[in-house]
Amino acid sequence: MNKVAFVYHPDYLLHDPPFDHPESPARLVAIREHLAGAGLLDKMVPVKPGYPETEDIVRVHDPEYLQQLDMACRRGDLTLDAEDTYLSHDSFTIALLSAGGAIAGAEAVITGKARRAFCALRPPGHHAGRSTGMGFCLLNNIAIAARTLQARHGVSRIFIVDWDVHHGNGTQSVFLEDPSVFFFSIHEHPTFLYPGTGRRWESGRGAGEGTTLNAPMGPGAGDAEYRLAFEQMLRPAIERFKPEILLVSAGFDAHKDDPLADIQLTDEGFRFMSRFVVEMAERHCGGRVVSVLEGGYELSSLTSSLEIHIRELLGA
Ligand SMILES: [Zn+2]
Repeated sequence: MNKVAFVYHPDYLLHDPPFDHPESPARLVAIREHLAGAGLLDKMVPVKPGYPETEDIVRVHDPEYLQQLDMACRRGDLTLDAEDTYLSHDSFTIALLSAGGAIAGAEAVITGKARRAFCALRPPGHHAGRSTGMGFCLLNNIAIAARTLQARHGVSRIFIVDWDVHHGNGTQSVFLEDPSVFFFSIHEHPTFLYPGTGRRWESGRGAGEGTTLNAPMGPGAGDAEYRLAFEQMLRPAIERFKPEILLVSAGFDAHKDDPLADIQLTDEGFRFMSRFVVEMAERHCGGRVVSVLEGGYELSSLTSSLEIHIRELLGA
């Protein structure tokens, strides 16, 4: 069995919606209860993250945006973007701790403390851009972890696989012109689903042309369509790019039982994707996988597909 870090902090529950909302602390409560009940928590290496250094955050986000976010929380604002990206009093602090969780998972893997990591954190991050929080996301956890790996650990080539059902527009925007970080996203087609980006022709810009790859899927697509996209698009992209580490924006909202979208993955689809990523990492980058929680809102399918994901990371 492989050493897999489980990154979690009890304060992740303090980011609490001021109204009924699918992205709630109950998600992490359910995840921990389920993994404990399945006997999996005991098989992982617990990692309790700390707060990141400011320099690790400002590699991705504008300092002015961080100030605005901090002020909005102090003022008691209930939302960030007048839509449904809510704030509670501690949200800025917990968003920092969430980014710290992704960093802790990445560092556990790159230093060899664990072979792989799963970061059970919230708020999620993949919609957050340099100076924009949106789609329940305040800071871009996985982008911050990627930049920290490069700046502090000399990693030069990083591959991000984003299988959350929504396009990872924030992550794409951060690395759009950067050839050192490959961003692959598979998601429901932007014609039908938030945030309305992630078309096939969005492939990077300038020096980063060719290191962004989008696989938009029609409503109703499921295991077979995802399998085809992984084999025909993702496999050659990883083989060509030769990353040193694989990061996964692991959303579980493409499950057929999740209410936020119309993709029809089953638990077997999540087994396939998880196994695929692990096998590619074993072949190309020493087995190093850092998986970071994004979406997934129906607690039963969230926990069942996550259990499968963790089993594949463990190889057990
Ligand atoms: Zn999502």
